[in-house]
Amino acid sequence: MPSDKVSSLLERNRNFNVALAPPYAADISRKLHSPGGPRGTVIISCSDPRVIPEQYFNLGRGEAAVIRNAGGRASDAIRSLAALDAIANIGTVIIVHHTDCGMTHMPDAGVRKMLKERAPELSEEIDGMQFGEITDVDESIREDVAFLRKSPLLSRDLDILGYSLDMHSGRLTEVE
Ligand SMILES: [Zn+2]
Repeated sequence: MPSDKVSSLLERNRNFNVALAPPYAADISRKLHSPGGPRGTVIISCSDPRVIPEQYFNLGRGEAAVIRNAGGRASDAIRSLAALDAIANIGTVIIVHHTDCGMTHMPDAGVRKMLKERAPELSEEIDGMQFGEITDVDESIREDVAFLRKSPLLSRDLDILGYSLDMHSGRLTEVE
C-alpha cells in the first residue's frame, strides 16, 4: 500500500493534461543537432523542493533540461551533462545556487559522520567522498562554473553561466 503522501502524488498525476504532451525526444534531438540550428540549454539547480527552476524561470515544456542535486553542484551533475550533451547538443549551461540552501547548513563532515555510523565498514571510502557543502554561495557558483569550463568532457564553445537565486524574492544575480 502506498503511503498517504504517495497516494496524493498519484492522484494529482491522474489529472495530467495530455493536451500538453511534449514533442518526441528524437525530433528535439534532430533539431538541436542540425547544423546552424539551436542548441540545448541545461539548468543545474538544487534539489530543494522550495526552489523549482521550472517556476523561477517560468519554463515551458521542452525549453530546457534541468539537473537537480543537493546544492546544484556541478561535480555531481557532470554525468548527466555529458549524457544530455550527446542527446541534445548543449549550447548553454546555467548553474543556480540559492540563499538559505540546506548545503550551507550541513557541512560534509556532518554527512560523513552520519554515513560512518550507518556503514562503518565503508569509513575509508566515506572519508574520500565530497558531498558538496557550501560555505559561500557566490564562491560555490564560481567554483562550479570554473569546474565545468575546464572539464575536457564538455564542448569548448559551451556558454557556462552562474547565478545566485534569492529564494524569497526570486531574484537572480549573475556571479562573475
Ligand atoms: Zn539548496
